[in-house]
Amino acid sequence: MAVKKTKFIFISGGVLSSLGKGIASASLGLLLKQRGLSVTIMKFDPYINVDPGTMSPQQHGEVYVTDDGAECDLDLGHYERYLDVSGTRYNSVSSGQVYFEVIQKEREGSYLGKTVQVIPHITDEIKRRMTIYDKQYDIVIIEIGGTVGDIESLPFMETVRQICLERGPKNTLNIHLTYVPYIKSAGELKTKPTQHSAKMLMEMGIRPDILLCRTEFPLNKEVTSKIALFCNVEEDSVIEVMDAETIYEVPTSLAKNNLDQIVLRKFGMPVGKLDLDTWNKFVARIKNPKFSVKIGLVGKYNQVKDSYKSILEAFIHAGAINNTKVDVVWIDSETIQKSNASQSLKDLDGILVAPGFGNRGIEGKIEAIRFAREHSVPFFGICLGMQCAVIEFARNVAGMKDAHSGEFKKGKNLVINLMSSQKNITDKGGTMRLGSYPCNIRKGTLAYAAYGTESIQERHRHRYEFNNAYRTILEQHGMKLSGVSPDTTLIEIIELKNHPWFVGVQFHPEYKSRAVKGHPLFIDFVKAALTNKKN
Ligand code: GLN
Repeated sequence: MAVKKTKFIFISGGVLSSLGKGIASASLGLLLKQRGLSVTIMKFDPYINVDPGTMSPQQHGEVYVTDDGAECDLDLGHYERYLDVSGTRYNSVSSGQVYFEVIQKEREGSYLGKTVQVIPHITDEIKRRMTIYDKQYDIVIIEIGGTVGDIESLPFMETVRQICLERGPKNTLNIHLTYVPYIKSAGELKTKPTQHSAKMLMEMGIRPDILLCRTEFPLNKEVTSKIALFCNVEEDSVIEVMDAETIYEVPTSLAKNNLDQIVLRKFGMPVGKLDLDTWNKFVARIKNPKFSVKIGLVGKYNQVKDSYKSILEAFIHAGAINNTKVDVVWIDSETIQKSNASQSLKDLDGILVAPGFGNRGIEGKIEAIRFAREHSVPFFGICLGMQCAVIEFARNVAGMKDAHSGEFKKGKNLVINLMSSQKNITDKGGTMRLGSYPCNIRKGTLAYAAYGTESIQERHRHRYEFNNAYRTILEQHGMKLSGVSPDTTLIEIIELKNHPWFVGVQFHPEYKSRAVKGHPLFIDFVKAALTNKKN
C-alpha cells in the first residue's frame, strides 16, 4: 500500500447518548469513500471490560465479530455495512484493553522504575492505538464512545487534544454530535444544551470544528447563527441532522448539508466527485418496496432490539434486493410450547431461530423448528438456531428422544457437543471459536444455490459443534450436510431433503451482510419466504 498522509477525524457526542454517533461516523466514512478516498473507522469505548464479549447483549446490544476474531462493539457492524470493508481487532478499543496493556508492561518492568500514570502512560497507549493506521489510509475516523463529560472517557479526550496539537488543524478535525431539543411550551428549539456541551469540550482543550445537531425540526438561520457564535464554530459548520426514515438515508442527508465537502475543505484536500448513485437506488428500494413478508425471529433477548442488530440489518439489505419489506415478528422462545406453536407461528412466511447462549427458551426454539419442518415453512437457523435444528431432527425424525446439546445436558445422544480444543478452557473472554473460517459447499444444495461458489469464509462465535458421531444416522434420515470445513472435521451448514428451504448454519452470516449487496443466504431466505407468502 502506498504511504498516505493520513488525516484524523474525531467524533464525540454531547448532551445525551443514543444520538447516532455510530451512524454519523459510518455515513461520513461512506461519503469520503465515495469521493475516492481510503477510509477506516475506529471505535474507542470507555468501559473497563477488555471487550464486550462477556457483556450481556441485553445491556450492551449485539457483540459484533471481525474476520480476525475480535469481539467488538456493534458500531463496528455499522462501519463494515456502510463502507463495505472489513475492520480488524485494532478498530475496536476499550479502556480495559488499554489499562490491561499498560499494567502488563508495568509488571514486566518496562517502565524502568517510573510511576505509571494516566498521563502520559495511559494516554500514550491510547495514542499508539489511535494512530495505528497512520500512513495506511487517507482518512481515519475515530468515534469516542459515551458522552463528553463522562469521567471514563477523559483519557480518550486528553489524547485527542494531544494528537490535534501534535498534528495540527490541517491533519485533524473534531466533529461533535449534539442535540437541539424542541420545547413545546416555548414553541422553540433550544441551543443551551449544545452550548454547554461545546463548552465542556473546550474546557478539555478541544475546539469543535463541526457540530452535527440532531433535531426533530429544521434549524432556522437564527438558531444556526446562535449556535455558531456561542460554540465558536463557523456558521456553515453547524449542520442540521434531522431524523431519517431509514438509517441508510443519513449519508444522503449529510451530503445535502455538505458535511463531506466542509471536512475536505478544512483539510485543504481536493473535493473530488461524490458518487452516491448505487447507494441512493438501494435507499429508494428500502423506502418503496413492492412486496412484504412476515418473518418470525425466535430468540430470547426480544426486549432489546439491539441484541440482534446485524440480523435486522441483514433483513433490510436482503429485503431491498428482493424489493420486499421484511416485517420482523418478535417471538419470545420461552412462550412457545408444542400445544401453542401452530397458533403463534401460523401467519409467518418464514422463521429464523437466533443465535444465543444458555438453556432459557431452548425447548421453545426446538418446537418452532419442528413447526417449520413439518409445515414446510422456510427456516433459517443461525448458530444456536442450527444446533437446535439438529437436536429437533435427531429427536423427532431420527427417533433419539433424549437428543440434546452438551451445553445443556450431560449423558448420551449429545448431537451437539464441545470440540476437543474447547474442553479445557476455563476463561470466558475471547476463548470461543471466533472469527473467519473457510467452509466448502457441496454442489446441488440450497447453500450452493445461494453463494454460487464451492468455497466461502464466514465468521464464527461459539464453543459447541455438530457431533460427528451422529453424521451417518442423521444423513440416513434425510439431513444434508451441505457445508463442511476443508479438513472435513466440522459441519458448518445443514439442510433437509423434502423441504422448500431449510438451512442451518454454524456461523454468523449476519456479520457479513453489507448495505447494497446483502448476504446470499439472507437474500435467498427472504426469497423463499416470499414464495411461501400466506396472504
Ligand atoms: N451457545 C452455542 C455455542 O456456544 C451457540 C452460540 C451462538 O449461537 N453464537 O456453541
